[in-house]
Amino acid sequence: MAPTRRSRQRNLLLRELRGRTDHPTAESLHAALRAQSEGMSLGTVYRNLGVLAAQGEILELAGEDCKRFDGNTAPHTHLCCEICGCMEDLPAAEDAAKRSLLEAAAAYAAQNGMEADGVRILFTGKCKNCAAPAPQTDETA
Ligand SMILES: [Zn+2]
Ligand SMILES: [Zn+2]
Repeated sequence: MAPTRRSRQRNLLLRELRGRTDHPTAESLHAALRAQSEGMSLGTVYRNLGVLAAQGEILELAGEDCKRFDGNTAPHTHLCCEICGCMEDLPAAEDAAKRSLLEAAAAYAAQNGMEADGVRILFTGKCKNCAAPAPQTDETA
């Protein structure tokens, strides 16, 4: 069976996202893909991102100002820049801390008829660009 236009667009989106590490927004993915797949509307991008996230193919991250998407679904942690809103990967050095958080949450949840089976940690701070001192300029105000 030939792939439908719909699944072609979804695959294109998935490939683009997996090739990037900058946790793009839907708008940024749309801008990148519009050139490759004429007629891919922003609505199509949003819809396919929703489907892929629901299927567990990608991660949907709540950023500072808008949703961001990650093609890397292995457990890892993010730092969200409070200045420009970008999202960067942090190495998962805090696995042990996550496990003990989850144990505590799961115990509480079990006592209250809920189930806790995952942890998402989002660090906030500044990305490399925003943390760097502003470049010196010769401008005199
Ligand atoms: Zn930044
Ligand atoms: Zn990531």
